[in-house]
Amino acid sequence: MNATVKYNEEEDFYYLESEIFEQIGWKPGDDILWIENEDGSVTLKKEENNMSYQNDVEKFMSAADQYVGATPHLDENNEAQARLYIDLIDEEFRELCDGFLRRHIGDIADGGADLVWVVQGLFTTLGIDFQQVWDEVRASNMSKVSEGGKIKKRADGKILKPDTYFKPDIDRVLKEQGL
Ligand SMILES: [Mg+2]
Repeated sequence: MNATVKYNEEEDFYYLESEIFEQIGWKPGDDILWIENEDGSVTLKKEENNMSYQNDVEKFMSAADQYVGATPHLDENNEAQARLYIDLIDEEFRELCDGFLRRHIGDIADGGADLVWVVQGLFTTLGIDFQQVWDEVRASNMSKVSEGGKIKKRADGKILKPDTYFKPDIDRVLKEQGL
């Protein structure tokens, strides 16, 4: 799409109207490439960050001819593989606990990383975009942080939820992913 890049002279920065961001789905914090064209116009391109745990696992799964879900679902197409990943999660969790019992920090790290791997495998099997679910959970958890950047606790240690607190709405996130 074509849009006018505006310039704030007082504070010396370029900006786009926020409605444009909404239209194209860019968010604060996205890395934007600034490419100057020969005709004097500028092309702005969002730099896709494909480095994620889920991408790593998805690549492996594709190479192993495993099922990769496109949208969130659990049905006859992916149930057997999902079950396999649940078993793997159980196995890696036990390895993690075992490493802890033996106080072997290397085995704890190994089990923990394997656990993250197989959880990503489950999400990929189920066609769930992990990052978007994580963002919702993170936003909910961070909504417990009061003004001043701290979490308030009662004397017995229970976290007191400020008015800013909201519950994660995972169903909404999955619907946005095509559930
Ligand atoms: Mg392991």
